[in-house]
Amino acid sequence: MHRFFVSPQAVRDNRVILRGTIVHQIRDVLRMRPGDEIVLLDNSGAAYRAELVTVDRDVVRGRVVDRWKLETEPHARITLYQGLLKGQKFDWVLQKGTELGITAFVPMLSARCIVGNVDDVSDARLERWQRIVVEAAEQAGRAVLPSLSAVMLFKHACESAAARGGLAILPWENERTHGLREALQVVPKSKEIHLFIGPEGGFAEEEVVAAKVAGVAPVSLGPRILRAETAGLAAAAAILFELGDLG
Ligand code: SAH
Repeated sequence: MHRFFVSPQAVRDNRVILRGTIVHQIRDVLRMRPGDEIVLLDNSGAAYRAELVTVDRDVVRGRVVDRWKLETEPHARITLYQGLLKGQKFDWVLQKGTELGITAFVPMLSARCIVGNVDDVSDARLERWQRIVVEAAEQAGRAVLPSLSAVMLFKHACESAAARGGLAILPWENERTHGLREALQVVPKSKEIHLFIGPEGGFAEEEVVAAKVAGVAPVSLGPRILRAETAGLAAAAAILFELGDLG
């Protein structure tokens, strides 16, 4: 069954009114007809099974035939601060990270990023990233859309993580003494976890020092060096598993 995130106003009592891009998706792409059923998600955790009643050019109307609460959000809330990556690697991180259960993504500009300036990330690219998150969340059956923030400088990301509380960790390939599992022994009740991953070239030594000062702890992900697009996903999967959110 096809799932769609919609604004809360789209479902009123048992009536469904859909406008905008979703109409094109339902009518022209999926070629759905009156009588077909879809699942609507209002980003509050509620799911609605709806039967299509009319499918017109600008508006699709339907009626709710079932509603329930989706219990698919992890208890651990991971925010991934990911150094900007080349090509489509960031797309991959967003898509797979959404499937795994990451709660928030922060595209981050750090010293060794290829992109030099926050403004170098175009609106079109941000919009594409947002679409990738929505599609992955629909596909994965997420109850709540992961948030995707604007590009942030490394320094501000550290400050923001510290201000929000929880556990803040920075996987660093040169960390020898502290491992991820050890860091997870002290997960706060809130299960709020801030995860910092570098770009292809990794973090600069000064950044690791600055992170520590801000309260972001370097941890090891083991003896093998993972690519930047692998590291965040591997760490997120390990965290979710360790905290009981992955089966
Ligand atoms: N600077 C390195 C690799 C960077 S890997 C080089 O170019 O050789 C990209 C990011 O993945 C790092 O910034 C780090 O956050 C994470 N990472 C990869 N392997 C890791 C490991 N074994 N332990 C901890 N972090 C790792």
